[in-house]
Amino acid sequence: MIDYHLHTSRCCHAEGSPAEYLAVAEEIGLPEIGFADHFPLGLLDYTPRVQVTMLPAELDDYLEEIENLKAASPLVRVKTGIEIDYLPGTEKKLEQLLTKYSFDYVIGSIHFLDGWDFTHPFYAESYKERDLEALYETYFELVWNACRSGYFDIIGHIDVIKKFGYRPQGAIDHYLQETARVLAETDTSFELNTAGRDAPVSEFYPDRRLLEAALAQGVTITVGSDAHGPGQVGRYFDKAEKLLREVGFRALATFTKRSRSLIPF
Ligand code: ZN
Ligand code: FE
Ligand code: FE
Ligand code: ZN
Repeated sequence: MIDYHLHTSRCCHAEGSPAEYLAVAEEIGLPEIGFADHFPLGLLDYTPRVQVTMLPAELDDYLEEIENLKAASPLVRVKTGIEIDYLPGTEKKLEQLLTKYSFDYVIGSIHFLDGWDFTHPFYAESYKERDLEALYETYFELVWNACRSGYFDIIGHIDVIKKFGYRPQGAIDHYLQETARVLAETDTSFELNTAGRDAPVSEFYPDRRLLEAALAQGVTITVGSDAHGPGQVGRYFDKAEKLLREVGFRALATFTKRSRSLIPF
């Protein structure tokens, strides 16, 4: 297994240095890891209510630290990734920024809906006031637009809207099917993100039905623990591997300088 979704203390809501994450990966025998800390929201001219990303001035240091780690890690391949918020209207800006930095891969994630940080436990009460049908519609439309933007190699925690266990009364199958279709059409990868098991919903992201639909459409997948501390590296990877095998996946997508290869597992 590979762990392509690791944060670091730079984002202000995680702990541990890249070297500490790498040490755990080595210990548990992962052949490849990738850091995907939160891209500075300030560079997208967005100011959230609480700071949840590194500051613009820290990005160069982050990249340098990981590049140094790559060179010093003979056992575990280390990749330089980043997790960038997809915020509608920032596409032009993002396009310029992506030409300035060299990443192995870019994870596109949605954490904000009209200024609401809906993945933050602090604001989870707001779900109670929402029309959940409309909320899911809005969320998944953003996911599809993120795919269509073409700026992301991987979509992060693709059904994270379920994080606190709020779901519409009606079926959500059409969202999952359409998401698989759009991933395929735009040749975007997605991830099995194991962090959801530690969230109130207590499930991986995404729903198994989306894994099945995506595989059927030929979509490629990575795996990530979304670790916010070194102790979370590779969390639940035994279950993740079992699930992926059951569904029928036999390869994982890996990235070097934004070019994808498949490795069997
Ligand atoms: Zn985070
Ligand atoms: Fe995220
Ligand atoms: Fe993350
Ligand atoms: Zn994340």
